[in-house]
Amino acid sequence: MTESKTREEFTFQTEVGRLLDIVAGSLYSNREIFLRELISNASDACDKLRHAALTAPSLTEGDPNFRIELALDAKAKTVSVSDNGIGMSHDDLLETLGTIAKSGTGAFLEQIGDDEKKNLSLIGQFGVGFYSAFMVADRVDVLTRKAGEDEAWLWSSDGKGAFSIEPAARDGRGTTVTLFIKKDAKEFLEQARLRHIVATYSDHVGFPVAFGDETLNAASAIWARPPKDVTAEQHTEFYHHTAHAFDEPWLTIHNRVEGVLSYTNLLYVPSSQPFDLFDAERKGHVKLYVNRVFITEDPEGLLPPYLRFLRGVVDSEDLSLNISREMLQTDPKLAKIRQGLIRRVLGELKKKAEKAPEAYADFWRNFGAVLKEGLVDSGPTQEKILEVCRFASTAADGLTSLQDYVSRMKEGQEAIYYIIGEDAAQVANSPQLEGFRAKGVEVLLLSDPVDDFWVQHVAAYLEKPFKSVTRGGPDLDSVAGEGEDREQESAPDAAELSDLIAVIKVELGDAVKDVRPSRRLTESPVCLVADEGDMDVSLERLLRRHGHLKVGMARVLELNPNHDIVRKLSDRAKADGASDDALLKAGAHLLLDQARIADGDVPPDPAAFARRLNEVMKSAL
Ligand code: ADP
Ligand code: MG
Repeated sequence: MTESKTREEFTFQTEVGRLLDIVAGSLYSNREIFLRELISNASDACDKLRHAALTAPSLTEGDPNFRIELALDAKAKTVSVSDNGIGMSHDDLLETLGTIAKSGTGAFLEQIGDDEKKNLSLIGQFGVGFYSAFMVADRVDVLTRKAGEDEAWLWSSDGKGAFSIEPAARDGRGTTVTLFIKKDAKEFLEQARLRHIVATYSDHVGFPVAFGDETLNAASAIWARPPKDVTAEQHTEFYHHTAHAFDEPWLTIHNRVEGVLSYTNLLYVPSSQPFDLFDAERKGHVKLYVNRVFITEDPEGLLPPYLRFLRGVVDSEDLSLNISREMLQTDPKLAKIRQGLIRRVLGELKKKAEKAPEAYADFWRNFGAVLKEGLVDSGPTQEKILEVCRFASTAADGLTSLQDYVSRMKEGQEAIYYIIGEDAAQVANSPQLEGFRAKGVEVLLLSDPVDDFWVQHVAAYLEKPFKSVTRGGPDLDSVAGEGEDREQESAPDAAELSDLIAVIKVELGDAVKDVRPSRRLTESPVCLVADEGDMDVSLERLLRRHGHLKVGMARVLELNPNHDIVRKLSDRAKADGASDDALLKAGAHLLLDQARIADGDVPPDPAAFARRLNEVMKSAL
């Protein structure tokens, strides 16, 4: 970029223009947050310089005390926020106050619609930051000088598509943002109002915020205060600031660990899903500080992605201040802190799950799918995560823990049974569950996409293996039936069905791997299951959907020997000329297709399915 000594004009990046329209139009009710945003930028600028001065101490020479100043000029109708932080060069200004570098901007703007309330909360989460100044100002000037440089610059814009940059003069480093307050925003020209806003939103800021001779905030990092001295309101305020959120923290985890390695964590679990929760990057937002100095957000190795819903701060005086990000990753101290944090968070979740199961269900709805990603890791953490997992089940209306499941296991039941599907309601109605229901054996109903993955990684809970009800034999024989005598139960007679099975096998050919009498059906005539050792039905469906598998595997078709249709077909199969019986053949295909439909799949040849169904209906009418 060539630096010019005269005034230059620029247009805002399209996205900024769009954002400015929304900001100017829709944030009316909450526009006081502009001050929080500007103070927060000033605080960030001080943080950045403090960090830079670790390796270049000359940057703060002569002016070592960071501060933020608020000023009001009632006559000129301006409010300004100044800092002696890092400041901005000509190119910094161009890059940061004219574009949005933030990742996810495109996706964010797509979500923005006409719903004002929704916009407000989205924008809050996204953090329009600096641009919020245009809610209350019809012109914004930014006078800035970068630490270590002599030149100063004036950036100016009316927020209507263009901005200018020109050379200017400034005493000392830092930035002054001056707002020319709009006619309809005069309230922000009152001292008391400004004081109140700072008290509401910015008390936690770690640098003094001065207004004339008065310092408006405590100017001490909130996480460094004794946990018992921090009120719920202060937590909410800090959480809003650090998470760009509008909701209340669902859970606050604030504690100090003293020992060979000392650190403080102030972590919040949000009460609603952050908008980037399911982004592919799986980025976390917990900030790492070393002795009050901000180092970086979500450094690799601080927290695992399955805890990415957490917000807040971790501060340790035992990490080295000028450690590079790459070295931080492999620092054994960071690994220790990570272990401690994981233990603490899972421990707190467990307490909450036991003490307040209903509130915990809210958490689980928001973040259960994320937490379950952690089950893919093996080791002791897996067990701890399993303890705080909750599942829908055939035995309970709400959610159940694994511990409760195990305590309800039937005599002779060896495994924790589950069924996976895409849709909770469909899963609950699967024919494969019938035999389990009849015997009163509980089955976990899994319908999160992540369920397909973790079940492959978790061997057992309390030594009980997990077993899919759509794969292999159900082993229900060893389980005592409910209210019936095990001995009397009529075992399906394979020999009885052998003629029918032979006809169906010939007719269906490679479309099925095998045809067998079922021990798991009580109401439906048929179902499909994976053979023992084959890929589970749900996993295959997932792989097919993502294009990793082209054709599905042939499955085992199970027949319910006690079902009328199966019995009658069986009788026809025993008669002479069964091999030419058109109805029997159509019946074989229809049974297979209805088993697919019950699994939520579509018959591969829907036209043939309809034709056969019509034939059979005609002959019945
Ligand atoms: P964010 O703070 O989330 O990065 P903002 O819109 O609030 O987004 O600010 C955009 C960028 O402008 C900042 O990242 C920073 O680089 C720059 N900036 C804003 N205010 C200041 C300031 N007072 N001092 C130095 N840089 C600033
Ligand atoms: Mg900001």
